[in-house]
Amino acid sequence: LSATTLAAFSGRNTMADGVHVPLLANVGTAADAVQAAASGAEGVGLLRTEFCFLNRDAEPTVAEQVEAYGGVFEAFPGKKVVVRTLDAGADKPLPFLTNLDEPNPALGVRGYRTHIGSPGVLERQLQAIASAAALHSAEVWVMAPMVSTAEEAALFASLCAAAGLATPGIMVEVPSAALMASTVLREVDFASIGTNDLTQYAMAADRQLGPLAALNDPWQPAVLRLAKLTVDGAAAAGTAAGTAKSVGICGEAAADPALAVVLVGLGISTLSMSARALGPVAAVLGSVTMGQARELAAAALAAPSAAAAREAVRAALPTLA
Ligand code: PEP
Ligand code: MG
Repeated sequence: LSATTLAAFSGRNTMADGVHVPLLANVGTAADAVQAAASGAEGVGLLRTEFCFLNRDAEPTVAEQVEAYGGVFEAFPGKKVVVRTLDAGADKPLPFLTNLDEPNPALGVRGYRTHIGSPGVLERQLQAIASAAALHSAEVWVMAPMVSTAEEAALFASLCAAAGLATPGIMVEVPSAALMASTVLREVDFASIGTNDLTQYAMAADRQLGPLAALNDPWQPAVLRLAKLTVDGAAAAGTAAGTAKSVGICGEAAADPALAVVLVGLGISTLSMSARALGPVAAVLGSVTMGQARELAAAALAAPSAAAAREAVRAALPTLA
């Protein structure tokens, strides 16, 4: 399947009824971005900036950051690039931000929370993103990882505004942010659901532990319901603000073609994934209408288990059955 579908992917994905679903790439470096652009990605849905600096003991200078981010923007002239601010944590420690002695690192000072103990790092990063954006034509959006409350979202938005960054957003990867989406999303312009962490925290199952893989499954109806709450909350926040709030996905769930159909049916407007998944996801999305995707999303939400949700949807998709 993948050889033919990769060749067939034109870079503009439409469903069988012509609905356009932008397919974006998850990247960590400028080299990844060049490869993603060559694979037909319509933009970047997740630039994991911590990947640019994983081996560094000291905070990168603003000039170094401008160069790293600029390399990504350069690969996508005129296209959307969503930059995530540093997400240091247990699985990807940055010595200048993380404390390796925490007893429970997944619940510790990680992601946006590092702003509390290391003031200035986030401000300098936002300044670097703004400077790099000014040098290139990419449409730059900025989001914070591991946001849990409306207060955090509001503070992040104010820091973005101070740096001259016009489109602030948050990752929804902590269940509290999904549950409170209608309030939290009033503070920012968009949300991107990180299903890797959202699943880990919803199921209380460490994403790095193989024996917990069955729990750590984004097909879990509990996770799908949190995604639906986020979409519904974004719609309510958009109505209250008089301006639409878009919701994308940038977790691994978007790279599973059958799950991608479900997520689009739930109302997710963009999908971001590793470049090699673009072709297979485009092929399956192109085989269904939005009406069919909505029906499959309803079936998955109503399923009693992850296995039942997956089987119901896969059986209904002729290209996968
Ligand atoms: C996620 O949590 O789904 C996500 C995209 O972020 P990361 O995998 O980098 O934690
Ligand atoms: Mg995450």
